[in-house]
Amino acid sequence: KKEVVMVSRPQGMPVEANFEVRRSELVFQVPPPPGFLLVKVLWLSVDPYLREIMNEDNGLTVIPPFQIGQPVFAGSISKVLASSDPKFKEGNIVQTISPVADYALISSEFFSIDKIEHTHAINVPLNQYLGVLGFPGLTAWVGLNVITQLQANEEVFISAAAGAVGLLAGQLAKLKGCRVVGSAGTDEKVRVLKEVYHFDEAFNYKTEKDLNLTLKRYFPSGFDVYFENVGGNTLEAALENIRRKGRIIACGMISQYNKEYKEREGVRNLMHVIGKSLKMEGFMVGDYWHMRDDFIKEVGELLQQGKISYHMDILGRGIDEFTKAFVGLLGGKNIGKAVLLTDDG
Ligand code: NDP
Repeated sequence: KKEVVMVSRPQGMPVEANFEVRRSELVFQVPPPPGFLLVKVLWLSVDPYLREIMNEDNGLTVIPPFQIGQPVFAGSISKVLASSDPKFKEGNIVQTISPVADYALISSEFFSIDKIEHTHAINVPLNQYLGVLGFPGLTAWVGLNVITQLQANEEVFISAAAGAVGLLAGQLAKLKGCRVVGSAGTDEKVRVLKEVYHFDEAFNYKTEKDLNLTLKRYFPSGFDVYFENVGGNTLEAALENIRRKGRIIACGMISQYNKEYKEREGVRNLMHVIGKSLKMEGFMVGDYWHMRDDFIKEVGELLQQGKISYHMDILGRGIDEFTKAFVGLLGGKNIGKAVLLTDDG
């Protein structure tokens, strides 16, 4: 068995030395102890929030920080090798949170453990249950439908638009008849947003001098909804340009995750929330797990009808490449969902 353990807390961008791949001749008990499944991990989800919970003080208060010397956990797609829970049997494919490992013992009672049974009907690859049909997809869907209740013809700005959440959010907003502009960190991502995903406009935030002026250029009379994925100066520019009574879906603030809590950027114009009578609402997608069937039904149908599509980026192969994949994600290497393929998939 191999598993990734955090041996020191990253300072800034994570480095190889922060993690160790521990190998052990672990002999698993078969059948597993009551309430557990023995699984072979097939795919691991590489997610921004993992960086946040590597910080001792972090904003995700409901998720305890990773502890030094303990394995790193991530979303996974796994195959059941042995089960002591009658709800699961050998050969089942499950989506859950597991250690970043090739084999694992996981609780069959975890809140978001689920047998994947829709693949055939929806006809998407298994790993998309970590992407467009997984937590990132649910995040985009909840953000637009539940948090902000997006209406037809509204104008929407989405940051980190070429990522797993942003791509689906943009497509769902377009299907509602909205005008959608996205920001991303490379010219290639901008091209993909416009040409493949039919965003009305997109721009590279890294080559713009003043994001406030950039947003004025794309939204001369402001916008109604901001899907916030990055925080920092993008949030400041969005606050300047959002319309009165606008809504902000506070989904993520990735530009801050590599900074210690006390070094994080403040938002100097937060006062606009008052002056413009804005509504800014945050959420944790785990609280909406109960809506997953509705989400899978709706987004599954859209996928089947060819009305939405998805990208996936394999940023690493094998547990040993976890750090490479994770740094790749934080550095913006991915278009769509970033995943790690474990040894033999
Ligand atoms: P992505 O697939 O979007 O990957 C992260 C992307 O963020 C990178 O590709 C990079 O793209 C961009 N990025 C990295 N650093 C910066 C920076 N300093 N400034 C601006 N952009 C940056 O990840 P997800 O789609 O999984 O997540 C998107 C956001 O949603 C994250 O903030 C995440 O924490 C949040 N989230 C929140 C959830 C919730 O429950 N509230 C659930 C899931 C995700 P680029 O090239 O554009 O820089």
